[in-house]
Amino acid sequence: MTNDVQVRHELDLDSLSPGIHKFYMDIIANGIAQDIHVPIMVLKGSKPGPVLGVTAAVHGNELNGLKIIQKLFKEVDGMDIAGTLVGVPVVNVPALLNHERYFSDNEDINRIMPGREDGNQSQVYAYRIVNRIIANMEFLLDLHTASFGRVNSYYIRANMRSKMSKKLAQLQNADIILNNEGGDGTLRAAATDLGIHAITLEVGDPNKFQKGMIRSGLEGIFNVMSFLKMIDDEITVPKEEVVTCQKSYWIYADRGGVLEVYPDVTDMVKQGEEIAVIRNVFGEKIKSYVAPEDGIVIGKSTHPIGQTGSRILHLGII
Ligand SMILES: [Zn+2]
Repeated sequence: MTNDVQVRHELDLDSLSPGIHKFYMDIIANGIAQDIHVPIMVLKGSKPGPVLGVTAAVHGNELNGLKIIQKLFKEVDGMDIAGTLVGVPVVNVPALLNHERYFSDNEDINRIMPGREDGNQSQVYAYRIVNRIIANMEFLLDLHTASFGRVNSYYIRANMRSKMSKKLAQLQNADIILNNEGGDGTLRAAATDLGIHAITLEVGDPNKFQKGMIRSGLEGIFNVMSFLKMIDDEITVPKEEVVTCQKSYWIYADRGGVLEVYPDVTDMVKQGEEIAVIRNVFGEKIKSYVAPEDGIVIGKSTHPIGQTGSRILHLGII
């Protein structure tokens, strides 16, 4: 087996023939003038239709999306679709190679989108990703996971005031949909500013492949393709009602110590219910935390060592 993958300098979807294309795009070069390549997969249909983009690993340690896109293109291989499917299995290549969340200059590129044409390392990278790749899309599903030391439910961030974003979110069959307007330097916000209908999928935990999460993420993408009439298939409806949260916030520890968080993700908690304790290093309880109001656990910290200011629990308010 060889890895003779073609390198392209631009994503010119019109020039591609119907069928699957897999190639690299040169985006920036490293300090010895070698190009850093972003991998791209395209399924071009023979019939006209929308351009749906699916991106993963904007944070380099969030890997479920990479597997989801690989599986997606395996499953659609040989299909003729209406429109074009674009997969970017790794957006943040330097971060992924370092097994890190952040870009090589330690910047979170999902806080600085759409970057700057004449900016610093991460800004230029972000700018070129947005303008050379993302700008070609009409719909975008951006796949993320929880951060290191935390676990997430399968939840969607979407601007629920936008009819189309709301629909895209509902098609994911996630545990929770969180209304979030964006405008915060994320890829979703930058895409929205370009007129692209975009949502963020938070699919499980970092640094690993999770079979169940990968299956769920894949189902949501096929649902979107069915809804957009790119494929002629039925939409899979969820077994359970999706919980929609109007807002959410993290609860932080105001004491340092050994942290134990009680509820699991997707658990409902009642106001006043004990959700976490902090013990000193001798095992004595020094602080108890209760839910400030009723809600659902979107994510939680799993790392037991919590300095003052550590995250405890991500509470969604229904
Ligand atoms: Zn992320």
